[in-house]
Amino acid sequence: MDNVDYKSLGLTPEQEDNMIEEAFQDVLNGYLRSNHRKKVEIIKRAYQFAKEAHKGIRRRSGEPYILHPIAVAKIVSQEIGLGSTSICAAFLHDVVEDTEYTVEDIENNFGKKIAIIVDGLTKISGGIFGDKASVQAENFRKLLLTMAEDIRVILIKMADRLHNMRTLGSMLPSKQYKIAGETQYVYAPLAHRLGLFAIKTELEDLSFKYQHPDKYAEICEKIKDTQGQRDEVFKDFAAPIRQKLDDMGLKYTLTTRVKSAYSIWHKMETKHVPFEEVYDLYAVRIVFDCDASDNEKAICWNIYSAITDIYRLHPTRTRDWVNTPKANGYRALHLTVMGTDGNWVEIQIRSTKMDDIAERGFAAHWKYKIGESDEESELETWLKTITDLLKEPGPNAVDFLDTIKLNLFATEIIVFTPKGDLVTLPKDASVLDLAYHLHTEIGSHCIAGKVNHRLVPISYKLQSGDQVEVLTSKTQKPQAEWVGFVATAKAKTHIEASLKRERKAVVEKGMAIIEKTIADNSLEAESNILITKMMGHFNIVTREDLYFAVGNGNIELPENIVKTLIKKQSSGILNRIWPFSSKNKKPEDEVTEVNEEGKTESKSKINTKKIYVLHTENGVQNYLIAPCCNPIPGDDVLGFIDDNDNVIVHSMDCPTANRLKSNYGNRILATRWEESPLITMFSATITIEGIDRMGILQELIHEISTNMAINIRKLNIEATEGVFTCELVVMVSDAKIVNRLCKQIKKIDGVKSTARTN
Ligand code: MN
Repeated sequence: MDNVDYKSLGLTPEQEDNMIEEAFQDVLNGYLRSNHRKKVEIIKRAYQFAKEAHKGIRRRSGEPYILHPIAVAKIVSQEIGLGSTSICAAFLHDVVEDTEYTVEDIENNFGKKIAIIVDGLTKISGGIFGDKASVQAENFRKLLLTMAEDIRVILIKMADRLHNMRTLGSMLPSKQYKIAGETQYVYAPLAHRLGLFAIKTELEDLSFKYQHPDKYAEICEKIKDTQGQRDEVFKDFAAPIRQKLDDMGLKYTLTTRVKSAYSIWHKMETKHVPFEEVYDLYAVRIVFDCDASDNEKAICWNIYSAITDIYRLHPTRTRDWVNTPKANGYRALHLTVMGTDGNWVEIQIRSTKMDDIAERGFAAHWKYKIGESDEESELETWLKTITDLLKEPGPNAVDFLDTIKLNLFATEIIVFTPKGDLVTLPKDASVLDLAYHLHTEIGSHCIAGKVNHRLVPISYKLQSGDQVEVLTSKTQKPQAEWVGFVATAKAKTHIEASLKRERKAVVEKGMAIIEKTIADNSLEAESNILITKMMGHFNIVTREDLYFAVGNGNIELPENIVKTLIKKQSSGILNRIWPFSSKNKKPEDEVTEVNEEGKTESKSKINTKKIYVLHTENGVQNYLIAPCCNPIPGDDVLGFIDDNDNVIVHSMDCPTANRLKSNYGNRILATRWEESPLITMFSATITIEGIDRMGILQELIHEISTNMAINIRKLNIEATEGVFTCELVVMVSDAKIVNRLCKQIKKIDGVKSTARTN
C-alpha cells in the first residue's frame, strides 16, 4: 500500500477483507517456502488473534490496522528470515500496546516465549505512532538493553520501523521529522551492526527522503539522468569479465550497484564534492551459484584471478572476507581494479549464500540449513554473537560504537551509567559534566570518575560508549578551576554560582578576622591604613581579595600583627612578621637569613627552659608550622625561635631542624601539643598504593569520609595497568588520626601500602 492513498481506493468491506486475507496468505506462503519448521497452526492463530484485537481500528492512512502487523510479519519472515516465533510475535506486536489484551493473555494463548517478545516490543514502543514521544537516545538505550533479553525483539522492532518508514508519507510532517531522525540515528546503525544491510540502506534512504525532500528528489533525478551513461561504462567494463566467467562455465549474475541516494548525498556533504564526482560506477558485484559440495572459496579466487588477468589490480585493496568473515557474518572477496575509464572500481565476489547473508544478515543462514531449521538454537548462536560484541570491550564492540559516534553524534556523545542508563552529552563533555547532569549535588561533590572501570580525573573528556561512574566525596566542593573542565552550561552555571556563594562567605569570614584583630588592638581609627598596608604587602589589588585570602587561610595573621605594624613602621617589617604568610615565600630562606646575620643570641622572652605548649586561641596559633616537614599535632616536634619571636615547629627528624639543632641550640625549644581538643585542622598527605579493582575507590572514600569522618582536601589518583597510586590530602587534628586512618585503609581489599608522606 506504499505511496497509495488508501481512502481513495474506496474499497467495500468485502474487498477489504479479501485484501487482508491475501496479505496474510502472502506471509504464510513465504514461510512455507522457507526452511523453517512448518508451525502453521500457531501462525494462523496469532494472525486471527491480532486481527480480532485490532478490529475496527484504522491507521492514519485509513487502512485497517491489521495490515500493519501483517506487513511487519512479512518483513520478519521474508526480509530478515526469521521463523514462526518471530512471525507470531510480529502479528501480535501492537496488541498489548494498543488494545485491551495483556501480556498474560498473550502468554495464555501463545506461550511464554512469544509473550516475552511482545512484552519487550511493548516496552520499547511509544513515540512511533503514539503520543508517548520518546527521546531517540532513550529508545536506543532500551533497544540495547532489551537486546540482551531476546534478539528477536530488536529484529521485529526493526521490521516494525521499516514498515512505518515505508508508510511514513501519511503521517504529519512534524511526526515525519521525528521518526525519520530517530531512524537515522538509532535504527539504521543498529541494522548495519546486525548485518541487515538491505534494511539499513532502505532506512537511511527513507530517512533522508523525509528529512531533506528537495535534496532527495534532486539526487534521485540526477541518478536517473545519468543512468544511461553509467550503463555504457558498465557494459564496457563487464564484457570481458562475462567472457571469462562464461568460459569457466559459471552460473552467475554480474551487476553494478547504484549508490543509494542517501550515500551519494552523504558523500557529497562529508567530502564536499559535487554529484558528478560521486555517481560513478564504483562497485560491481559478481554473485555465483554453487552447490553445497562446491568449493566456494576456490571459485572466489578463480574469479579473482580471471579479473586480474584483464584489469590492473589495486595493490592494497584486496579484502578477503571469505577466510575471515566480519563480526556480523559478512563474507565476500573484494578487489579493486582500474576500470576502462581510468577510475578504480571495486568488485565484490560472492556466492549466492554469501550474498544472502550479506544482504539479509545472519538470519539468512537458515535458508541453507539442511533439513528443517530450529529457530531457537540458531537464534541462540546469533544472539550470543551479538551480545558478546556489545558486552566485550573488544575491537568489534568499539567498532560498533564508533560507527554510531562517527555517523550520528558528531556534536553529541552518548555515555552509560553503571546501571546502563544512557546519557546524552555535548561533545567534549567531561566526567564533571556528567556528574552535574546526573544531579547538582553529585556534581558539587565529584572527586573522580571511573571510565570503563578505570579511574580518571574529573576533567577527563568522555567518549561515546564510555561507561562512566561518578565518584563523590561529602567534603568535596566546587573549585575555581572546574569552570575550565566543563562543556555544559548546566555545570558551568552551578560551579560559578557555588563559587560565588562560597567566596562571599569566605570574604565575610576574612573581613571579620581582620576587623576583630584591629578591634582587639583598639585601632579602629587606623583600620584603613592597616588594610591598605596589608594589600600592598601581599600585592593584592582589592580589599575583597584581601578578605578572601585571609578568610580561606592563604594569609595567616599572627596575633601581634597590628601592634607590630603600628609600632614599627620600618619598610621591611612585614616580611619578618609574616614569614610564612604568603604561599610564594620560602620560610627556610628566612631561617637561613637569620643564620647569616649571625644572630646566635635569642632576644626572646620565651622561656627556653620550659616546655612550650603549642596551642590555638581564637583561631590564632602561637606557633608556625615549618613547611619543609609540615608536622601536625601528635607528631614529635621541636620549636625554633626565629628572630621575631615566632616559634617555628619542625618535625623532630626534619633535616632543617637537625641543622638548626646543631647550630642554634639556644634557640631550640622543647614543645608539646596542647591536650585539649584542637579546633584547628592540619593537612596530611597519605600515599596509597594497590591493585585497582571495581569499587575500590568508593570503599576508600567511604572509609575516609563516612566511617572516619575525615575531610578529604585533595585526591590524586593514577592508575596504570591495574595498579593505582593515590595521593590523598586529608584534614586532621593530629597524627594519631592519620595513623589510624592508614591502618583502616590498609584493611581494604587491594590496598598494598599506605604511608604518610609530605
Ligand atoms: Mn507497529
